Amino acid sequence: MIKPHGGKLINRIADDESRNKLKEKAQNLKKIALNERETSDLEMIATGALSPLEGFMTSKDYKSVLEERHLSTGPVWTIPVVLSEKEGDDVEIGSEIALCQNGNILAVMEVEDKFTFDKEKEAQAVLRTTDKAHPGVQYLDSISNTYIGGKITLIEKPHYDDFNEFRLDPADTRKLFEEKGWKTITAFQTRNPIHRAHEYLQKCALEIVDALLIHPLMGATKGDDIPGDVRWQCYTTLLENYYPKDRVAISIFPAAMRYAGPSEAIFHAIARKNYGCTHFIVGRDHAGVGNYYGTYDAQLIFNEFDPKEIEITPLFFEHAFYCKVCGNMASTKTCPHSKEHHVFLSGTKVREMLRAGQKPPAEFTRPEVAEVLIRSMKNS
Ligand SMILES: [Zn+2]
Repeated sequence: MIKPHGGKLINRIADDESRNKLKEKAQNLKKIALNERETSDLEMIATGALSPLEGFMTSKDYKSVLEERHLSTGPVWTIPVVLSEKEGDDVEIGSEIALCQNGNILAVMEVEDKFTFDKEKEAQAVLRTTDKAHPGVQYLDSISNTYIGGKITLIEKPHYDDFNEFRLDPADTRKLFEEKGWKTITAFQTRNPIHRAHEYLQKCALEIVDALLIHPLMGATKGDDIPGDVRWQCYTTLLENYYPKDRVAISIFPAAMRYAGPSEAIFHAIARKNYGCTHFIVGRDHAGVGNYYGTYDAQLIFNEFDPKEIEITPLFFEHAFYCKVCGNMASTKTCPHSKEHHVFLSGTKVREMLRAGQKPPAEFTRPEVAEVLIRSMKNS
């Protein structure tokens, strides 16, 4: 099985023996509230999804990530995983603090470092823009200019209202892959309903590997993305009707979106390696937003690293469509016909149709998925 990033799957979850003691101790520590992104980062650090990270970054790693796109200890890393100091926190280096979600203590952190940072510099290095309209820049504007770094120990996982049985940690997916005898597994990241075009990419990949892990992102996203429960229903409906059950798994990827395009594509690939996947599908404009990134930037960035450093194999895909002349799904790589023969609908057009109760053509969306979407539009 593929090794985790940095060689070892990190586990920063308190064991049963130490949990109660730690919980008791945490009651008397300074309590720090986590925002949504930090909560999801905390969980991912603790479960090893962000191996080799054992805590929120200190200035040494933070600087190294911004300037070298590697951790100070060597492994490739393109996204800062950081904890911002909130107003009135006054955290002291050398102290221990309790990290909380809505007043509920989730973890204890040993504060190793506290440092101020330059928001524009971070935005430019990670997001490749300082434009105030970019959601990542807006996030930076919403936090203080001080980060706190140090190792964490998780007492309790963040609380979620739904899908709890579908939140597999890296140790769980690795176990599952082993039990199933899958040697090569490709992950597919998504935050949208799966239309025929994405189904095609997944199935092209499935022709060359043992299995597919559909790994939808359910952490913090922009407000205009389709709600998680509706998307989930789309995925399960599609799997039920069109996918081979013994070669597909679905689980939630608990990351918060950064909309950092290329930097985030590398981050997403590395996290999937930690989940035990050997391949990762990278479409056009992966993790992009607006027009901030070139169509192929999220694919091209992989050329800037030694493949051995990243290890998980990226699978690059073009946009797919149904071609009426070919009589099947295709992309510009495989179909020689001109655009007027292709069934293509813009996101806006699809939403318009669904809102009017019209099913998009079956060449574009599976009718069962269209029904789920139409129903949700009526209820919203
Ligand atoms: Zn064609």
